[in-house]
Amino acid sequence: MMNITELTLQLQPSRASDRLLQPFWDYLLIHHLPLISSPFFPVLLAFSSFFFFSIPFAALDLLAERVPLFYKYKIQPDRRPTVEMMVTNFTIALSNHIFFVVPIVIISTFILPTPTVPKDAPTLYELFTGGLAVLLLFDTQYYIWHFIHHKHPQLYRCIHAIHHEYIAPFSFSTEPLSIPELITVGFWSNQDPIILKCHPLTMWCTTIFSIWLSVEDHIGYDLPWSLSHLVPFGLLGGAAAHDMHHQKPSSNYAPLFSHWDRIFGTSVPLKRKN
Ligand SMILES: [Zn+2]
Ligand SMILES: [Zn+2]
Repeated sequence: MMNITELTLQLQPSRASDRLLQPFWDYLLIHHLPLISSPFFPVLLAFSSFFFFSIPFAALDLLAERVPLFYKYKIQPDRRPTVEMMVTNFTIALSNHIFFVVPIVIISTFILPTPTVPKDAPTLYELFTGGLAVLLLFDTQYYIWHFIHHKHPQLYRCIHAIHHEYIAPFSFSTEPLSIPELITVGFWSNQDPIILKCHPLTMWCTTIFSIWLSVEDHIGYDLPWSLSHLVPFGLLGGAAAHDMHHQKPSSNYAPLFSHWDRIFGTSVPLKRKN
């Protein structure tokens, strides 16, 4: 590992690397180092992923019956979000980021050590195992946090209730969280890859993938080609499981995988649309 200054002085394309991701990593280092080494980059990546992943499903909700191929998979067809609901939720998510997340990142630059950027890319194996470890750790942390915040009435009311404003979730309702929940989730998302010594590229890929899974949880469509269907044995919870959590909040607490809900008996049978 080297710091950014050293890297800028010594930067040269890697040679004779057996790492498949090395050309891409070299490209990022040579052409986009100021961007990727910025402390705001992970926030930008996470928020833009949320926005762009949400847009197609918002369009789907607005088109509704006009796209029967998709609409037949709508989990709660009698409850549809309006444009106003979508705009309100996006505005809450955006203002939370501008007024809370960005200031926290600025403060953290004075407290935390300068980020380091490795010269070598991760191998595909490192990227996959590191990413999986981060997702499993986050899933465990959030399961415990989520369970506690549903069992304790005051914690639920003050911290988590805002996320349960809608019985039928929709893509733009993924992000509106209370400030304490947003800070907690953001802290784990940033610190888990550091604790597990992940490469920055692993961290960013995991961020994009976990945002996709979070949006998929909230799209309100049990699509047969979604990841929760493609991954075998129902290992991922997906939209059907999390939609059920919004209908029956004392079930399906895990955000990504299904194993903790199965082990602790908090999963409920899902009404599949396909
Ligand atoms: Zn939710
Ligand atoms: Zn909940």
